[in-house]
Amino acid sequence: MATYDAIFVGSGINSLVGAALLARDGWSVCVLERNDVAGGCIRTSIDLTLPGFTHEVLASWHPLFTGSAAYAELKDDLDRRGVVYLNTDLPTGTAFPDGSAAFITGSLEGNVAEFARLAPGDGAAWERQFNSFMGNADLAFGLLSTELWSAAGLSLGRKALRRLGRRGLLEFSGNTLVSCRDWVTGTFESEAAHGVLAPWVLHTGLGPDQATSGFMTQVIGAALQLGGMPVPEGGGVRLVDALAGIVSDAGGEVRLEADVRRIVVANGRATGVRLADGEMMAATRAIVANVTPTQLYGSLLGDGDVPEAVTAAAARYRYGRAEMQIHLALDEPPQWTGDDHERLGRCPIVHVTPGLDGVSRAVNEAERGLLPAEATIVCGQPVALDPSRAPAGKSILWLQLQELPAGTVKGDAAGDLDIGDGTWTEDLREAYADRIVARLGGSIANLDGATSKRVVFSPVDIESLNMNLVGGDIYGGSCALDQNLLWRPLAGAPGHETAVAGLWHIGASTHPGPGLGAGSGYLVAKALTRPRLANRLLARLPGRS
Ligand SMILES: Cc1cc2nc3c(=O)[nH]c(=O)nc-3n(C[C@H](O)[C@H](O)[C@H](O)COP(=O)(O)OP(=O)(O)OC[C@H]3O[C@@H](n4cnc5c(N)ncnc54)[C@H](O)[C@@H]3O)c2cc1C
Repeated sequence: MATYDAIFVGSGINSLVGAALLARDGWSVCVLERNDVAGGCIRTSIDLTLPGFTHEVLASWHPLFTGSAAYAELKDDLDRRGVVYLNTDLPTGTAFPDGSAAFITGSLEGNVAEFARLAPGDGAAWERQFNSFMGNADLAFGLLSTELWSAAGLSLGRKALRRLGRRGLLEFSGNTLVSCRDWVTGTFESEAAHGVLAPWVLHTGLGPDQATSGFMTQVIGAALQLGGMPVPEGGGVRLVDALAGIVSDAGGEVRLEADVRRIVVANGRATGVRLADGEMMAATRAIVANVTPTQLYGSLLGDGDVPEAVTAAAARYRYGRAEMQIHLALDEPPQWTGDDHERLGRCPIVHVTPGLDGVSRAVNEAERGLLPAEATIVCGQPVALDPSRAPAGKSILWLQLQELPAGTVKGDAAGDLDIGDGTWTEDLREAYADRIVARLGGSIANLDGATSKRVVFSPVDIESLNMNLVGGDIYGGSCALDQNLLWRPLAGAPGHETAVAGLWHIGASTHPGPGLGAGSGYLVAKALTRPRLANRLLARLPGRS
């Protein structure tokens, strides 16, 4: 039987980073992936539309990765393996229906000027809010990068208390709960300022009226200014290959078409896995499962492996809104309309929406089971950063619709589309995509004529690419407060250590949640390689370094 120090179930970014860190530390590791391609949501394709076009089928933008502790630690290795990040000083903008636009730039001066253009006083408001956020940025980012259910989480709390005092800490915590609506309307005068910030909460799995969405808006606003919108030259596959290379060069393996069906537990300890074809594999030190709680507790573990309350709580784990992805190959660059067409053409991500109320309405319609009448269109333009993604003079668009019902579609808020029985048939998928593309045509003059090929993924198609995206929820589970931070994945099983010795739970369903930041893989690798307590105490003795 093949035996490793650690086996990772699933090859998402968290697994690849965790495996690379363990491999560099001398562990023998094996990453098992059920698909015929590694990387999970990082899935670069050169076959999706037409020859010469490179598409990110799912995740595309890497600011969370380049801003992560994992990247800081692995950067030299990744550089050596040819991972090159391309970035911009104009990460995002919003195109409004009246032809106007608003932007977030990559500098403080740029944002002060841009927000002042939107309303007198809003430039100064941006500067004030940015400086105030940065004063405690270590606490804010710490909340999203620390193992909260641990001594490290406790010391983050103590640090906050020492710095802010009891009342200050109460105020800081209150500020983390505010909704995006309350925060943006309380901070900025201009509706355009609200409209350039509000769509970003969709990228955290939230809506603008939900608790914590205002805090996430502040985090993202600062992150956009500080980190831009990097993408790896040539596509995310470069990062996946480089991480897999670190594993294999250290003697480990990333195995494809290896579908794990059971985690074997003996005497309360995880000892190995069984694959769909019956093959058994053993792990002597750790099994790290990058799966949903539904899969982990519902099928990978057996009856009695964990307390019944945990299994029951996992069965109640909620998935969030679904998503659709539209990919377009264009014969020429998109021609944006309006006075700001040049800047819109340079932005890697443009949101097309009426603004804060537009996002709020579309989220609400989706949460009530309806196809939104006026969805927020996330219009990604990878060629604005990386010309290698399309033949010279051509382009691609990466369109994301994050406001779709979880589960069966109950109706169309616009009253136009025949939703049939509410399942995602090919007809419904293409009809909804037609509506989106027609609306986008109001902002991009040549969209119709320039499109040479279109490929659409409905929520069902998305789940079929990665079983962790249940119902087409691209964030691996609702990110509402009761299922986030300390409570992710489950209040009864917080953090990454599970009730089974040697079994660790990582991935988007666990803290710090979805995104390419690789936080859970990093935290678990660090926990596994941390020197034992006795060695740590010995190292503190005088004369020992
Ligand atoms: C359409 C889309 C767009 C996104 N855009 C961005 C973006 O631009 N930037 C960003 O930061 N984030 C983005 N995200 C979110 C981000 O990509 C994900 O949160 C993140 O990649 C999840 O990584 P993960 O480590 O949890 O594993 P995943 O990427 O979910 O991978 C898990 C892997 O495990 C495999 N697996 C599951 N069960 C088993 C099993 N039993 N046996 C073997 N293999 C198994 C699956 O096949 C899958 O390959 C996007 C997500 C989607 C879907």
